[in-house]
Amino acid sequence: MGIRVGLLGLGTVGAGTAAILLAPQGRHPLLQEVELRWVGVRSLTKPRPLHLPSGILTTDLEQIVRDPEVDVVVEVMGGIEPALSLILEAIAHGKHIVTANKALMARHGDDIYTAANQAGVYVMLEAAVAGGIPIIQALKQTLGVNKIQAITGIINGTTNYILTRMQEEGGEFADILADAQSLGYAESDPTADVDGLDAADKISILAGLAFRGRIKLEDVYCEGIRSITKVDIAYAEQLGFVIKLLAIAARDKAHPDQSPPRLSVRVHPTLIPKAHPLASINGVYNAVSVVGEPLGEVVFEGPGAGAGATASSVVADILQIAAMIKTQAAWQVGIENQSDRSQVSLLNPLLSCATMEYCEISPIEAVNTRFYARFITSDQPGVIGKLGTIFGHHQVSIESIFQKDLRNKDLPNTVAEIVVITHDVLEGNFRGAIAEIQQLDTVQSIPSILRALEQSL
Ligand code: NAP
Repeated sequence: MGIRVGLLGLGTVGAGTAAILLAPQGRHPLLQEVELRWVGVRSLTKPRPLHLPSGILTTDLEQIVRDPEVDVVVEVMGGIEPALSLILEAIAHGKHIVTANKALMARHGDDIYTAANQAGVYVMLEAAVAGGIPIIQALKQTLGVNKIQAITGIINGTTNYILTRMQEEGGEFADILADAQSLGYAESDPTADVDGLDAADKISILAGLAFRGRIKLEDVYCEGIRSITKVDIAYAEQLGFVIKLLAIAARDKAHPDQSPPRLSVRVHPTLIPKAHPLASINGVYNAVSVVGEPLGEVVFEGPGAGAGATASSVVADILQIAAMIKTQAAWQVGIENQSDRSQVSLLNPLLSCATMEYCEISPIEAVNTRFYARFITSDQPGVIGKLGTIFGHHQVSIESIFQKDLRNKDLPNTVAEIVVITHDVLEGNFRGAIAEIQQLDTVQSIPSILRALEQSL
C-alpha cells in the first residue's frame, strides 16, 4: 500500500520536502511508496523552484486536510493561523501530522497533542528544532532510557551568526545585524531571533520531550542579544570565554525525583569557556548538548536551517509514520474491532507524545548560575573592597575581579572599569547585591551583567 502526503506550503521547507519526495531513488526504499498527493499554496501563478506533477498544486488547503486518500498532512506554511485550524481539522479526519512550525507547537502543542492522542494519530516535529539535526527522535527514542539532567543548545542560527561575526571582526551588534539583514541571514523584523523568542519556542519543545512533561511557554525566561557589546566580547575573550545565545533546560538538583521534574528553562546570552564543546559552534550552525544518566554528555551539531537540512528532517518524520502505518496495517488483521481506537491504542509509545502533566518551572531568581558583571567606577582606592564586601553579604562568591590589566582604552583616566566573575550563585542573591552596589557613590554605572555557564552544567 502507498502512503499519500498532503503538503501545506511550498516555500523553503516545502520545496525541499517535495524535491526529496519526487526523487526517492538512492534513499530509503520505503520512500518509493510515499506519494506526494497534494501541495497547498497561496498562489498558483508564483514561479516555483521545482517541477511538480500536473494537478497536485492547489489553493484549497481545506480540501487537502479532509481528503480521505491523504494519510499524512505536512504543515510547512508557518505562522499560527490558518496552520492551527488546518492541523486540528486534519487530525479530526484521522491524518498523521508532520510540522516544522516551532512557533505553533510551542504555543498550541497542548491542544494539538491532546487532539492527536484522542484521534490515535502521530504528530511529528523533527524539523521544528535545530533544522537537520536529529535531536527530537534521539530524545524520544535512543536517549529516552536516560534520566536527562540538562539540555544546552545553540538553536538559533541568526544570533549565532551575529555573535560569531562580532567575535571575529570586533564589530558592534547593530552594524552586524544590518549587514546580516542585507545578506539574508536575518529577517527584516529580527525580533523573534535576536530577542531569543525563537530559541525559547525551541527549548520548550526539547524540554517537554526530554523531561516528559508539558512546558508553558510563558514560564521560559528569555533574554536576547541586543545588549551585547564588542567590549564585553573582548573581555570575555581575554578571560577565556566566548559569548553565545544558549537555550538551557536543566533538572532542579534540589528536587531530583519530582515527577514530572522541576526544571529551569531559559534563554540568555552566556559566557562559555573556550574549551566547552559549544564554544566552537560558529556561524549559522546549531548544536545541542544533552547530559543524561548514565550516558553522560552527547553533543549533536549540524545545519539548523535551510531547505535541504530542514526537508531531511521533515521527510524522516514522514518515513517514520509510513513505517508505522505499514506495521499497523499488518497488526490490524488480527484485531476484532479495528475501528475502536479507545480499546486498542496502536500508537507506538516511542513516537507519540502522551504526557499531559505540566513541569514546574523554577523562577529565574531561584536558578544557580555564574555571572559576569562590568562596573564603571571612580578610579580611587577601596572600590574593589566595597564590591567584595557587598557580594559577600549577599552570599555571592567571587571567582575573580579584574581592573587595570584589562582596562578599556576608550574610557577617561578618572574612571576605572572593573570586571567580576562569580562562582555558581543564586540569581536572587546576585540581584540583591547588584541593587546595593548601584547605590554606591563610587559606582557610576553597570553597563553589562551577563550569565556565565554554571560550573555544575
Ligand atoms: P516560506 O518560505 O515563507 O513558505 C511558506 C509557504 O506556505 C509558501 O509556499 C506559502 O504559499 C504557503 N502559505 C503560507 N500561508 C499560506 C496560506 N494562508 N494559505 C496557503 N498557503 C500558505 O516558509 P519556510 O521558510 O519554508 O518555513 C515554513 C515553516 O518551517 C515555518 O514554520 C518555519 O518556522 C519552519 N522552519 C523553517 C526553516 C527554514 O530554514 N526556512 C527551518 C526550520 C523550520 P505561497 O508560496 O503561495 O506564498
